[in-house]
Amino acid sequence: MKRFEYVQAPSVQDAIDMMNSTVSEALLKKATSSAYVVKAGGTDLLDLIKEGLVEPARLIDLSRIPGLDKLSYDSKAGLQFGPLVTIAGLENSEEVKKHYRALYESATHAATPQLRNMATMGGNLMQRPRCWYFRSSAHKCRKKGGFTCYAQIGENQFHGIFNTNICPCVHPSSLATALLAYDGKVELTGPEGRRVAPLAEFFLSSEENVSQETVAGSKEIITNIMLPPVDANTRAAYLKAGQRESYDWSMADVAVVLKMDGNKCRDARIVFGAASSVPLRREGAEAVLKGKVVTEKVAMEAAKKALEGATPLKHNGYKVKLFENLTKRAIMDAVG
Ligand SMILES: Cc1cc2nc3c(=O)[nH]c(=O)nc-3n(C[C@H](O)[C@H](O)[C@H](O)COP(=O)(O)OP(=O)(O)OC[C@H]3O[C@@H](n4cnc5c(N)ncnc54)[C@H](O)[C@@H]3O)c2cc1C
Repeated sequence: MKRFEYVQAPSVQDAIDMMNSTVSEALLKKATSSAYVVKAGGTDLLDLIKEGLVEPARLIDLSRIPGLDKLSYDSKAGLQFGPLVTIAGLENSEEVKKHYRALYESATHAATPQLRNMATMGGNLMQRPRCWYFRSSAHKCRKKGGFTCYAQIGENQFHGIFNTNICPCVHPSSLATALLAYDGKVELTGPEGRRVAPLAEFFLSSEENVSQETVAGSKEIITNIMLPPVDANTRAAYLKAGQRESYDWSMADVAVVLKMDGNKCRDARIVFGAASSVPLRREGAEAVLKGKVVTEKVAMEAAKKALEGATPLKHNGYKVKLFENLTKRAIMDAVG
């Protein structure tokens, strides 16, 4: 591991100023990736540093910034939480459990209890993909500026089944699957001030930008995450399939949020995680549900539609049936 400077940011403004102030020349020469990087819980970043994939000159620790760990809920404004709210913080919130069931389920099924205590939501949305070729310093893949995608020709059992042409890695955040299904937004703060990005526009597919997963600029940090209010007629579910019950990312996960008029579906959001380089809305499947009474038959029709256009790789064809079954079950689970 290369030497780096460690600084603790007392405020968001200080963190941004620290990105602009000079790092010692000696450390800067040793830094091979960027001059600085921000850290929250460190559960992903420290792995990247140990593997030599991130070699900053300065590490800016956000974890002590007051106020970024607050969560609030209001029936008119919806849910808001700072980037330092942990996955456990969502899991332990009565409001999240009561009003945002899919988000609550995604939190309770992520990683392990120990990791959920450390892992922050800002870091969760900004974590880098888990593709083993990307994570190995021995493979200079496309994501790292190389010309070859080793996953396309090699071990791809956990990779994507949609939009796999450039880089088939999947987005690692299972919480993002649920947040997108609720039409969440993130607030970014940088030297130019604040801006809000809907999650639907926040993530960048590997076709859009193979080396970066979000629209966040190099000097911007996530300062807030917002979900709109849900009414009493909203029904939701989240299901995850993994190799192990714990200590693992998803092989496939599905979040379903339905707005009901009696037993008819008025509006629907269906989002796949671990299917593509971004959390992926399945609009065709949503259209199947809209205006219908949701029966098992309709749910199956929507599930089949959700898999239209899938292009599995050599070793991950199993994901098509897995997603189909999870989608049908999640829809039926949502309508109860
Ligand atoms: C064994 C294991 C299993 C896991 N399983 C799951 C799972 O099932 N589902 C899931 O979703 N995740 C899973 N994770 C990932 C885990 O949730 C993330 O590592 C964690 O959420 C990252 O948060 P952190 O605070 O530790 O971020 P850090 O490691 O501190 O940072 C991660 C990245 O985010 C950036 N960053 C951090 N905060 C901000 C901010 N406010 N603004 C901008 N950039 C920021 C950092 O620069 C870094 O690039 C798993 C991790 C492990 C180790």
